[in-house]
Amino acid sequence: MRALVVSDKVEPILYSAGINRHVGEIDLIIGCGDLPHYYLEFIMTMVSRPTYYVYGNHGREVEYQSGKGEDWQQVTEPMGAENLHMRTAREGSLLMAGLEGSIRYNNARRFQYTDTEMLFNILRMAPRLITNKARFGRYLDVLVAHSPPWGIHDQPDVPHQGFKSFLTFMKWFRPRYLLHGHIHLYRRDVVTETRYLDTDVINVYPYRILDLEPRA
Ligand SMILES: [Zn+2]
Repeated sequence: MRALVVSDKVEPILYSAGINRHVGEIDLIIGCGDLPHYYLEFIMTMVSRPTYYVYGNHGREVEYQSGKGEDWQQVTEPMGAENLHMRTAREGSLLMAGLEGSIRYNNARRFQYTDTEMLFNILRMAPRLITNKARFGRYLDVLVAHSPPWGIHDQPDVPHQGFKSFLTFMKWFRPRYLLHGHIHLYRRDVVTETRYLDTDVINVYPYRILDLEPRA
C-alpha cells in the first residue's frame, strides 16, 4: 500500500494543482495531526483515496462550530476522512490504529494527555487489537500518532516529550510502523527513522510517501 502521509505543515508542493504528478499512484492518505481541515480535504479531493487521520495537540488546527447557545467547543471533522483515535481500521490488508494528541503541557481541554491517560487510551483500544490478533494473526500493522514515543525523535522541552506509553504499546502490540509528526525538522541531519523492537518509528514531518506492507 503506497501511502501519502502528511503532518504539521501545509506543504505547497502538495497544496497545488500538481499534487498527483508529484505523488504518483497512491493507495491511501494518512494525516498525523496539526493540519487545517482544508489541507486534508484538498488532498483527499485531488488524490481521491481513503483518508485516515488523528488530531495533533494544537487547537489552531481544530475547527469549531457553534453548538447550543454560546458553546463553540463542538469540534468539526474533515469531510469524509476517518478519525482513527482509539479506533482500528482495515484498508486493503493493512491493519491500522490511531492515538491523537501530545503529552500534557498546559490546561487545554483536549488533545493533550498525561502518560497515564494515554496508557488508558491504549487499554481502551486493546480489545479491538486483540480481536485483530485472533482474526488476522497480528494486532496491527500501523499506529498513526501525532506524538513520538519517549526517547525516540522527541525533544527535552515538555511540549515535545514523547509518550512512555507508546514504548509499552510497541512492546505489547508489535506494530510494523509507528508514524508520527509533532517534531518539526529544520536540519537535514536529524534522525527521522528509528527501529524499536519490531517497529519502524517514522517522523513524517511534513510529508512522506511510504510503502506500508503488512508483516509477512
Ligand atoms: Zn504537535
